[in-house]
Parts: sequence; C-alpha cells; structure tokens
Amino acid sequence: MKTTTDKISSAAPASATPSLDPLTGLLSRKSFLDQVRIRLDQEAPTDWCIATIDLEHFKLFNDWYGQEAGDRLLKNIADYLKRIQDCYHYTVGYFGNDDFFLFLPNDSGLVRLIFQTVCDYIQNQEQMEGFLPIVGVYPIADPTRSVSTMCNYAQIAASTLKGKFSQRICYFESSMVESLEKKQRVLHEINGGIQNGEFVFYLQPKCDSRTGKIISMEALVRWIHPQRGLVPPNEFIPVLEKSGLITRLDMYIWNSVCQTLHRWQEEHKPVVPISINVSIIDIENIDVPRYLSSLLDQYQLNPKFLMVEITETAFAENNAAVKRTIDRLHQAGFTVLMDDFGSGYSSLNMLKDANIDILKLDMKFVEMNEENHNKGIQIMDSVISMAHRLNLLIVAEGVETSEQVSMLQSMNCLCVQGYYFYKPMPVAAAEQLLAKTPTEDYHELRINFVQKHHCEEYLVDYETIPSVSESITHILEENTLELARFNVINGEYVTVKKSPYLTDDSAGTVQHIRDYSQRMVDQGLIHPNDTEGYLLFMQLGHLQHLLLHKQTTVSYIVRRKVDGIYTRILIEFITGLTCSESNPYVVVVRRIADDSE
Ligand code: C2E
Ligand code: CA
Ligand code: CA
Repeated sequence: MKTTTDKISSAAPASATPSLDPLTGLLSRKSFLDQVRIRLDQEAPTDWCIATIDLEHFKLFNDWYGQEAGDRLLKNIADYLKRIQDCYHYTVGYFGNDDFFLFLPNDSGLVRLIFQTVCDYIQNQEQMEGFLPIVGVYPIADPTRSVSTMCNYAQIAASTLKGKFSQRICYFESSMVESLEKKQRVLHEINGGIQNGEFVFYLQPKCDSRTGKIISMEALVRWIHPQRGLVPPNEFIPVLEKSGLITRLDMYIWNSVCQTLHRWQEEHKPVVPISINVSIIDIENIDVPRYLSSLLDQYQLNPKFLMVEITETAFAENNAAVKRTIDRLHQAGFTVLMDDFGSGYSSLNMLKDANIDILKLDMKFVEMNEENHNKGIQIMDSVISMAHRLNLLIVAEGVETSEQVSMLQSMNCLCVQGYYFYKPMPVAAAEQLLAKTPTEDYHELRINFVQKHHCEEYLVDYETIPSVSESITHILEENTLELARFNVINGEYVTVKKSPYLTDDSAGTVQHIRDYSQRMVDQGLIHPNDTEGYLLFMQLGHLQHLLLHKQTTVSYIVRRKVDGIYTRILIEFITGLTCSESNPYVVVVRRIADDSE
C-alpha cells in the first residue's frame, strides 16, 4: 500500500470522458480519481472528505448467497449512491469488489446517514449477522495531495474497524499508517505461518474422574515458530482478537480438527468428540454455525463429534449474537460449552437464558491452595448442584492435584480436565493415548446424567440438602443481582458474580464488609432513609452473632439503586451446614425482593 505523501502538480485533463463501471454504473477508479482532482482544482471546495464504504466479508456473502445476490446488493447500493450523487453534486466511484468511494462534504451527520441507509439495504436483502458495512473517512486537509493517496487513507481508517462490531465509522489519523504497517507484518507472518503449517493444535483430554476414561478432548492452538519455538496461544490470540484476524486462524484450526476426526474415522481409530474454541470475534465476523456445518459436510462428520466452547465473557460482550449462535448450533446438532464460567462478572441470569449444555468451571472461581483449602468450597458445591438442577454437565478445568479430584468427586462433578490427568499433547500422542486408554461416550453419559437427575428431582429430601446449595438456585432467578463470598471471621467480602445492572460499584476486589457497606452509603446507592439500619445490619459483630453463634441464615431488605432507581433488595447471608472458625465462608446473595417479602 502506498503510504507516502505524494503531491500532484498538474490537474487531469478536463476533457476525458468518464468511464463507468458496467455493473454499478458508477465512475470507475481512474475516472473517480480524475473527476475529484478536477473538482478540487477548479471548485476548491472547503472542508470536504473522501469516504470509503466497504462491505465487510463480502466475499463470504458471495460464497453463501451466490454471485447473483452479491451483484444485486452492489447494484442496490450503487443506485442509492448515484441518486445522492446526482441530487447533491457529490462524486461517487466504484473500485471493484465491495469498494465504494465518495467525495462529499466532511459532515459527520451526513456520513452517518449514508452508512445507515447502506445498512438498511443489506438488512433488507439478507437478514444476516456480520455483513455490515464499514466506513473510513479522510477529511481533506491538503487538497494538493494525490486523490489516490486520499483514498488509501480512507481505506486505512476503514481497515482499523475490521472485526469491531460496535464501531463502524472511523476517521483517518496519521498514527494509523504505522499501526497498519505493524498489523500487516503480523498478518503476513501469520498467513505465512499457516501456509508453512506452523500452526497446529494440541489435544487435552477431559476425563471421568472416577475411572480415568477419556470422554472428549479440547483442541488448543500452538504456534511452532521456526525461530521462537512453541508459542502458547496467550502470546498471539489477544493480538489477533484485537485486530479481528483471529477468525482466519480459527477457521484454519477448526478445519484441521475436522480433518483429523475424518482421518480417525477413515483409519478406524477410536474417536472421541473434540471441542474447539470460538471467540466472540468469530461470532461477530462470520456465520459460525454455517461454517461449522459446511465442515461437517466436507469431512462427513456427525455433529456429535464437534463441540463448541464459547467463553463466558463473550456472553457479556454481545449476548444477543451469542444466544442466536447457540440456538443455531443446537439446530445443527452441536453441543455447546460455556468456557471459563466464573472468570468474568457477567450476568448470573445468562446461565439460565443461554441454552448451553456444559459448563466449564474456571478453577480461578475458587482459588484452592494449602492456605485457603476451605475457601470457596461452598460456592463450588453450590454452583455444581445448581448446574445439575439445570441439567448442565460440568467440566472442572485446571485440575492439578488429587485433592482437587477427590473434592470434585465428592461434589458429584465427574468430568475433569487438567494437568492431573493429562497436559495438552500433539495429535499423534493423543492418538496413541486413545489407542490404549478406554473411552466413555459423552452422549450416553449425558443421557444417564439427565435420567438420574430427573429421578433425584422427585426423590429429593429437601431437609437433607445443605441450605447453601438449596438457596443458590436463587442465583438463576431473574432478579438476582449479586453473589459474593463473605468471611464471617475476618470480615473479608468478595463479589464473585454480579449483574450488569450493578455497574455502580466495583466487584471482585477483596474488601472489608465495613468498607463495602460504607461505600454503598457514601455513593448514595442506599436510600437515605435506610442507611442507618443498613449500616447496623452489616456490622461484622452483628453478622457474627447471627451466623456464627446462632447458625441461622440471615436476610435483610433495603432500598438500593438498581439501574438508577431505588429498588427493594433482599440481602441473604447463607451459611453451609456448619459455619465455624475453621469454615468461616458464607454465600451472600442479593436479589430484587418479591412484593411479599
Ligand atoms: P482455555 O480454553 O480456557 O484453555 C485451557 C487452558 O488451560 C489451556 O491453555 C490449557 O493448556 C491450560 N490448562 C489445562 N489444564 C491445566 C492445568 O491443570 N493447570 C494449568 N495451570 N493450566 C491448564 P492454553 O492452551 O495456553 O490456552 C489458553 C487459552 O487460549 C485458552 O483457554 C483459549 O481461551 C485460548 N485458545 C486456545 N486455543 C484456541 C483456539 O484455537 N482458538 C481460540 N479462539 N482460542 C484459543
Ligand atoms: Ca476452552
Ligand atoms: Ca477455559
């Protein structure tokens, strides 16, 4: 790409007959450049700009809907742009592919209006996620600069938006040239890496903790870099996600995974389902269910062999798109896992709304080491039993010790993944392992699990269920706002999960309950008439008296701001079977109070 500032001294000849693009009837590249040059020289308009409209992923659009639908879309957009060109005396050009250029007044309202109209054309033709235009604008500061450079700059501004769903219009800044060059180097390196087969995936088994049988495996990308050696994903995935380039790599990995499954089938090797990682960027960039289904066709695979892991944070970033994707993955027969559950602070209700099959519990949810062995066990236990009630299988990740395994077994969490059983390994090693290790059919496991669970639903004796597990089902109720862990001995209060409606106070930081409640009052989050009672109730000594000495579950109603409005909130402190100095952890649930409460 040409990025230097080249100046043009002589204007293009005014007599040249403009050549029109046959499909769109708009000025071709050369004629557009000439015409804009002439107008800049002759009319010298002040404060105009060059804008480019790019239909992101237009090539995929053509692949999926056919060339004819693609041409029709281009023609519709071109007709609209031609109308505004004729009406308002702008200049509009079409440079081929999906690239439109406009020369028009530098007015952000005008640019937004054109963007919105083009969006409407696309949406009217195909109700598709991921086919939105992006607009790059170069405000003409120096009219002597070559028009082709101006167009380049508009394109550079547009290219910074690729893969970003929330922002679709961008104005050129000179720093973009440098970062584009850097990004292109990375892309070049990655493309080269893909071509040279430097990207591979490792497989890490998920096992039945009781028997050690392998239930499925997860594909984890690795970059075998010629100079740097084995590069872990954390070193390149965040960069790729930021630039939207992750999708290129992910599609390649998913394809390789399907190819491997196909080969195992062909060679009559033992096959277990493999789960792949799907980034939120992928969901925003392409039609993931459609692409995965096309892979199944290509490699003649049953969808039961491919599972899809989507991280919890994706749900918070673009919940609607993620939910739609999950529904369509289910329609296509895929199993969907929510990855890293507990690592973010997304809405608790998502779990109920999002129609997922398996919850992957992030071990960070409860840090379990020598010192804080008991810490969080209650929460862990609660989450597991709550998930079981929802018919969700749980996979515990990052399991490293036999203590963790026995603890998980005692909580009825059977499926574990972690170094305790196996580290991620190359495909060849995984094949050898599968040849000598018994496997267990995930789908049978699931059916058994659901049947067993349903029986238990009827047989259950609620008296025997620890109150903490019982009450945690509240977490899934519509009105739950916050889940926290409270140490009744030292007063430590840690928010574990929180609804997005509570953006007004900080979560996750360890703090003393006194500071927590005082801050709520100071920030005006508690109704002024309730502050006195609230601070008394939240006093550590008072809570110790009730929770530790009286061993009761404690609740309190207060008016707290939710989404800017004072709302009656029920705060519940829920103890386990025993709350003692050696097991001082209490679960705190805050939810919107029922009218009866
Ligand atoms: P993840 O999906 O949560 O994967 C689990 C990570 O934990 C993996 O790191 C795995 O090697 C590591 N792990 C497994 N067992 C243990 C254990 O017992 N202890 C510890 N400390 N770690 C364990 P890895 O392979 O470095 O991957 C990191 C993250 O990169 C993944 O987290 C996932 O979010 C992302 N990722 C990996 N492969 C892909 C991919 O193909 N596409 C996309 N979009 N993301 C990927
Ligand atoms: Ca994963
Ligand atoms: Ca994970």
